[in-house]
Amino acid sequence: MSETTGTSTSTLQRTPTAIVQHWINGQTVDSESGRTAPVFDPALGVQTKSVALANGAEINAAVAAAQAAFPGWRDTSITKRQQILFRFRELLNERKDELAEILTAEHGKVLSDALGEITRGLEVVELATGFPHLIKGEFSANVSTGVDVYSSKQPLGVVGIISPFNFPAMVPMWFFPIAIAAGNTVVLKPSEKDPSAANWLAALFSEAGLPNGVFNVLHGDKEAVDGLLNHPDVKSISFVGSTPIAKYIYETAARNGKRVQALGGAKNHMLVLPDADLDLTADAAINAGFGSAGERCMAISVVVAVEPVADDLITKITERMSSLRVGDGRRSCDMGPLVTEQHRDKVASYIDLATTDGATVVVDGRGTDIDGDANGFWLGPTLIDRVPLDSKVYLDEIFGPVLSIVRVHSYQDGVDLINRGAYGNGTAIFTNDGGAARRFENEIEVGMIGINVPIPVPVAYYSFGGFKESLFGDTKAYGLAGFDFFTREKVITSRWLDPSHGGINLGFPQN
Ligand code: NAD
Repeated sequence: MSETTGTSTSTLQRTPTAIVQHWINGQTVDSESGRTAPVFDPALGVQTKSVALANGAEINAAVAAAQAAFPGWRDTSITKRQQILFRFRELLNERKDELAEILTAEHGKVLSDALGEITRGLEVVELATGFPHLIKGEFSANVSTGVDVYSSKQPLGVVGIISPFNFPAMVPMWFFPIAIAAGNTVVLKPSEKDPSAANWLAALFSEAGLPNGVFNVLHGDKEAVDGLLNHPDVKSISFVGSTPIAKYIYETAARNGKRVQALGGAKNHMLVLPDADLDLTADAAINAGFGSAGERCMAISVVVAVEPVADDLITKITERMSSLRVGDGRRSCDMGPLVTEQHRDKVASYIDLATTDGATVVVDGRGTDIDGDANGFWLGPTLIDRVPLDSKVYLDEIFGPVLSIVRVHSYQDGVDLINRGAYGNGTAIFTNDGGAARRFENEIEVGMIGINVPIPVPVAYYSFGGFKESLFGDTKAYGLAGFDFFTREKVITSRWLDPSHGGINLGFPQN
């Protein structure tokens, strides 16, 4: 059985034989590739549906639909485009509970967190509704006698978006509202682990009045990604995912002459100075380390404690960990399961590695009580102290509820440690010393910084992106950078001829 549209699928979502199909040209298109991937309910540990994996013909069909829709959408008046965006915003706000349920059922995050994800995506939709101002050009009269110069920001054409499993609604919304507002048409390739949110969003946008073909969802794996990277009609690629894939995407898309932004992985440190309020710091470490089961690119995974605070801080963190309720996100729990069994096993393997490498496992999440089905992909919050800096527990992006503690002896040791890291996505400092915080802000080589804020995800009218191995390409996501990425500027020099313009002059005009 195939799913129909995203907005009317809530009963089909629970049908084990349902296949999440492509959304092309305003409708569900059944895949003929014969290839699918399983989609699980991570809290139940069972496969609830499958997702189609596109073949070459389906990739071409999605791009062709977007290409055919492009001229009409580009030339649709600003007023009309804005009305559709406002309607989409209203519908999304009205029905966000429905989308949150889909996120929890496929990703596993608890319902309140799923709603938080949607709220952050909605912020970008709201920013995008202001596009008439943000894509305005400039005008200079009489740059030479009777000559005017003006600029116009125009859409690129068909743009490709490739998104990760951990934010199946928010990350696509970092890009498609802005791309579409600016007059582009979109092919979104969501993660195959939790694909339904993308169809739901596309169907909702259609209901808001978006013309067919402007927003297409192509499901698939590497074949679909490579198809977009190599398709001559795809003008840009916006990617979010792990660093090795981000590098591959960046290099391949750039080689093919496409505009590309590729956001990669992270390993975020939280520096705790001795003057910090340790109760508030422990709260923040818990929220940032274990929210969404640590499957956030802005999660804190290493607490860098400037001595002598480590022992006290660990006591406070441990007390709080014991009160966390881990279980099915549809119940009132704090933390849900990991996305797949394979990912859970990989994350859990770092706990054994920590012991082998000489670290101290303070809390082992494999022993946590679970409020959920025994078959779910569970791993409770885990705390590891004295993690050696050459251990993979410190170096790797674990992407699960595993919080490491590293002890240092000064502010400077902490800054040097963070700056030696391969990634530069997010970081935070906890202190009551304004001077130290200001120094940190200046000296740290990380793109997004929190001062007593553990997960400093910028609001929609700033832009999101890190440094080093966390971002390939030079344009961040959303904010003004998003409008720059999804438009290209034309500069027009114009004069209306009259007899005074006559005569031959091979030089540059002087006045
Ligand atoms: P992933 O790299 O495995 O997958 C991301 C996308 O790439 C998916 O759509 C997937 O289908 C596709 N893909 C996977 N393997 C591929 C291959 N070999 N060739 C081409 N395409 C391929 O990432 P994930 O596990 O879905 O997501 C978690 C990762 O995303 C973490 O590393 C996390 O830090 C990162 N992330 C980063 C940000 C950021 O803003 N920097 C935000 C969210 C997630």
